Amino acid sequence: AKKHGRNRYFWFEPAMERELRHRNDLETGIRRGIPAGEFVPFYEQQIDLETGELVGFEMLARWQSPVFGLVNPDTFIPIAEEIDQIGALSESLIRQALDDAKEWHQKLTLSVNVSPMQMRDPWFAQKLLRLLIESGFPPSRLEVEITESCLHENLGAVRAMVTSLKNQGIRISLDDFGTGYSSLSQLRALPFDRLKIDRSFVSELANEGMGHELVEAIVSLGRDLSLPMTAEGVESHEILAKLRSFGQLKGQGYLYGFPEDAIATRARLARLDLL
Ligand code: C2E
Ligand code: CA
Ligand code: CA
Ligand code: CA
Repeated sequence: AKKHGRNRYFWFEPAMERELRHRNDLETGIRRGIPAGEFVPFYEQQIDLETGELVGFEMLARWQSPVFGLVNPDTFIPIAEEIDQIGALSESLIRQALDDAKEWHQKLTLSVNVSPMQMRDPWFAQKLLRLLIESGFPPSRLEVEITESCLHENLGAVRAMVTSLKNQGIRISLDDFGTGYSSLSQLRALPFDRLKIDRSFVSELANEGMGHELVEAIVSLGRDLSLPMTAEGVESHEILAKLRSFGQLKGQGYLYGFPEDAIATRARLARLDLL
């Protein structure tokens, strides 16, 4: 471990210890980075696939770390949850996002992601409403995305939370739809406003094979439930064309560009005359 003194063990230092130290540095970095404002919202366009019109943005968290560079949420969200910082992190991000989004054209919506652990916080709805009031952003333009894995939490508690958000006019989307666990009865048990078809299915549209039938089946399930849908992972014109053949859908993905920070997003909206 140490270069001096215990050099008998120098060959022993290896991967595991390095990994532990890295993990420790990440934890420290997250704790310090939240109050330091290192966590910032990026925005991904959401498009009405029928008209090609921009209809809103999904906020995606990024960590601009002076040590690690630009870090993606799959790295830091799970750690933030484990060290009990997800609430503070999310509050900081949503506050910034509401502030950004209230400058956008009023027809544009803002979607934010909420993890299962946050859904377990009985004060979550109240905290979110406070942020909305402080920002002056209308609840009717906010969508909260919850994942299917929320559904095997205490369903009663999740339903109470969803209901209280909806009573304020906030809309609820089911994220990563199709990846797992939700039964039809669970889908009916919660008053979702939208399904988001997971990228793993949508990207199959680029290949030969069963992908087409699978996405078609998911879309028709959504239609049976009378739920509007958003397809994730629209990466190519080919995928877009196939999605359009399924009828009315929204979509998002790299075909329309990578997620951008608030300044680039604002510039885009200025060009589109949507500020
Ligand atoms: P998600 O909600 O499924 O978000 C979509 C992810 O797919 C994003 O990755 C996005 O950059 C990426 N993506 C979008 N379009 C395409 C595409 O066309 N092709 C490909 N290959 N990828 C695409 P990102 O930003 O790394 O986010 C990963 C996950 O982290 C998100 O998955 C979401 O579950 C979570 N997350 C992001 N921001 C937050 C947050 O503020 N709070 C919480 N709790 N979770 C967040
Ligand atoms: Ca999402
Ligand atoms: Ca998703
Ligand atoms: Ca996902």
